[in-house]
Amino acid sequence: MEPQRSPLLEVKGNIELKRALAKAPSRLPLPGSRLKRGPDQMEEDLEPEKKRTRGLGTKVATSRPRATALTTVPQTQGQTAVPKVPRKTGPRCSAAIATVLKNQKPGPAVPAQKPGTTAAPPVVGRKKPSKRPAWDLKGQLCDLNAELKCCRERTQMLDQENQQLRNQLREAQQQATALGTERRTLEEELARMRAQAEQGQRELGNLSTRVLELEERLGTQEGLVQELQKEQLELQEERRGLAAQLEEQERRLQASEAALSGSQAELASLRQEAAAQADLLAKREERLHGLEMERRRLHNQLQELKGNVRVFCRVRPVLPGESTPPPGFLLFPSGPSGPSDPPTRLSLSRSDERRGTLSGAPAAPTRHDFSFDRVFPPGSGQDEVFEEISMLVQSALDGYPVCIFAYGQTGSGKTFTMEGGPGGDPQVEGLIPRALRHLFSVAQELSGQGWTYSFVASYVEIYNETVRDLLATGTRKGHGGECEIRRAGPGSEELTVTNARYVPVSCEREVEALLHLARQNRAVARTAQNERSSRSHSVFQLQISGEHAGRGLQCAAPLSLVDLAGSERLDPGLALGPGERERLRETQAINSSLSTLGLVIMALSNKESHVPYRNSKLTYLLQNSLGGSAKMLMFVNISPLEENVSESLNSLRFASKVNQCVIGTAQANRK
Ligand code: ADP
Ligand code: MG
Repeated sequence: MEPQRSPLLEVKGNIELKRALAKAPSRLPLPGSRLKRGPDQMEEDLEPEKKRTRGLGTKVATSRPRATALTTVPQTQGQTAVPKVPRKTGPRCSAAIATVLKNQKPGPAVPAQKPGTTAAPPVVGRKKPSKRPAWDLKGQLCDLNAELKCCRERTQMLDQENQQLRNQLREAQQQATALGTERRTLEEELARMRAQAEQGQRELGNLSTRVLELEERLGTQEGLVQELQKEQLELQEERRGLAAQLEEQERRLQASEAALSGSQAELASLRQEAAAQADLLAKREERLHGLEMERRRLHNQLQELKGNVRVFCRVRPVLPGESTPPPGFLLFPSGPSGPSDPPTRLSLSRSDERRGTLSGAPAAPTRHDFSFDRVFPPGSGQDEVFEEISMLVQSALDGYPVCIFAYGQTGSGKTFTMEGGPGGDPQVEGLIPRALRHLFSVAQELSGQGWTYSFVASYVEIYNETVRDLLATGTRKGHGGECEIRRAGPGSEELTVTNARYVPVSCEREVEALLHLARQNRAVARTAQNERSSRSHSVFQLQISGEHAGRGLQCAAPLSLVDLAGSERLDPGLALGPGERERLRETQAINSSLSTLGLVIMALSNKESHVPYRNSKLTYLLQNSLGGSAKMLMFVNISPLEENVSESLNSLRFASKVNQCVIGTAQANRK
C-alpha cells in the first residue's frame, strides 16, 4: 500500500512533474509516430509475454518496471536525443498524472486508471493471420484498407485523447503553478508563524520568569504587608495614647495658663513688693554697716575692758610614761560663781626641802596662788582654748594688731598650743590653723557687706639672735639664708624681713602646706643642732588687709602667733662642759630676748618714753604688734610634773608680771 503523501509533498511532486514536462518533449504518442515504427518495434511492444516465454526477454527488460501507457509509447529514432525523464521520477510522475486525471472530469474515451497501475496498451497493429490466399491481393488490400481505416479512426481518437490530456496537463500545470505560489505563500506564512511562535515562546518564557518573579515578590510583599499592618496597628495604638496624652497636656496647659495669669498678677505685686524690699534692704544695709562699725567699736571696748594684755595659763596633761604628781600639787580653784565659772586661778604647792632639813622635821608644802584671765586645766581641748581667743582674732580683722605668745619651759606644750599635736588630727589642731580658718570664714561673711580681705603669711625663726625663714624652699631651704628685719620703706612704720617669703593665702589647705613646710625646715635644722626648735622663737605673722570699696574704707593689721623658746634657765651650780657653753650662750640669748620682751611690756605698761624694742630681734620684729594700739595675749604653758615645779613657778611669776600690765588704749589701724 502506498503511504499517504502530505499535500505539501504532493504539490512539490506536481511542481517537479511540471518542470519535467516543460523540459522534456511530450512522450504522448503523436499522430503518425506510431505508424513510423518498424514492425519489430511494434512486436516488441505488443508481445512481451511472448518474448518471455521464448526466453528472449533479457533480464534487464524484465527487471525494468513496466512503463505506463504514456511512457511506453515507442520513440522514434529521431527522438533519442531528447533527454529522458529520470527513471526515479517515473512512479512519482505517474502518481502525479494519476492525481491530475483523478481530478479531471472523466472523459468519454479515456477510462480512469488506478494509480500505480499501467494502462492497458491499445490494440493497434496486431497482425491477424490473413485468411486470404496469397493471390487474393485485392482481398488483402481490402483488409489492409479496412485495417488502415480502423487505425486512422483509432489515431483520431487517440489524438483527441491526446489533446484532452494536453489540456488537462496545462490545467494541471496552471494548478501546479497556483499551488506552488500558494505553497510559497504558505511556507512564508509558516516561517512567519514559526518566527512568531518562537517569539511567542520567548515571550512566554519571559512572562513565565516574570510571573515567577512577581509571585516571589508577591510572597515577600505579603510578608511586608503583614508587618506593615502590624506596625500600623501599633502606630494607631500609639497615636491613641499620644492623643490621650495631648489631651491631658492641653488640659494641664489650660490649667497652667490660668495659673500663669494668676502668677503674673502675683508677680507684678511681688515686683512692687521686691522694689519696696530693695529699698528696705538698702536702708537695712546702711543700718547694718552702722551696726557693724558699732560692733567693732564695742568689741574693741570689750577687749579693752578685758585688758589689752591678757594672760592665759594652760597646764598640759601628764603624758604616758611620766610620773604622776602628788595629789594637790596643782589645784584649779573655782571662781566666785562656783564650778560653772571658767577657772581663772591656779595653785601650785611646793615642798621646800631645804627648810624641812634645817628644822629637822618635814616642812609643809608652800602654796603659790596665781590668777590669770583664764586658766586651762590639763583636760582642756584645743577648741576650748581657741574659743577664748577667737574674739581676739576677730579684732585683727577689725584692724587691731594682735599678738599671741606661748611662753613656758621646753616640753610644757607651747608648740602643741600654737601649731597643734602630731598626726594632723583635726581635734588637736593648734591656734594657728584654727585662727586662719576663722579669719577666712569671717572674711567671707564680711564680703557680703562689701568688705574684701587679703592675707599674706610669713613664718620665721629667731635663734641666737639670727632670723631664719621657715618657708624657704629650693636652694635656700635648710641653710636659713641671711634675713634681716627692716622697715618696709623710708618713713614706714611697717617692718619686713629681708630674704623671707611672704606668701598670700586664701584657704586652709594653703596654710596647712605652709605649716608642713615650716616643720620640714625645722627638722632639717634639728639634725644639725639638737633640739634647736626649743631654743628658738618661731614667729608666724599674717598681714591682714581689708577694704570696703563702696565706702572707701581700709584697714590693715598684723596677726602674730609666737611660739617662744624654752624659758628654762641653766642651773648655775652645774659644771660647764664644751657643749654646755654653747647651751649657755643660747640660754643667755633666750633669756635676754625673753627679759627684753618683759621689759618692753613693762615700759609700755608704765608708758615710758623709751621702749627697748631694739634690744632683741624678737621685740624688734614684734614692735608693731606690741605697741599702744595692739592687743596682746600670752599663754603661759605649765608642765604638770612635780620635777618641773621650779621652772613652772618662774614661768608663772613672769606671766603674773605681764598680767599686771595695762597698755594704753588700743587703736585700730584705719585709714
Ligand atoms: P614645747 O613646745 O613647749 O616644748 P610641746 O608642745 O612640744 O612642748 O609639748 C611636749 C609634749 O607634750 C608633746 O608630745 C605634746 O604632744 C604634748 N602635749 C603638750 N600639750 C598637750 C596637751 N594640752 N594635751 C596633750 N598633749 C600635750
Ligand atoms: Mg616647742
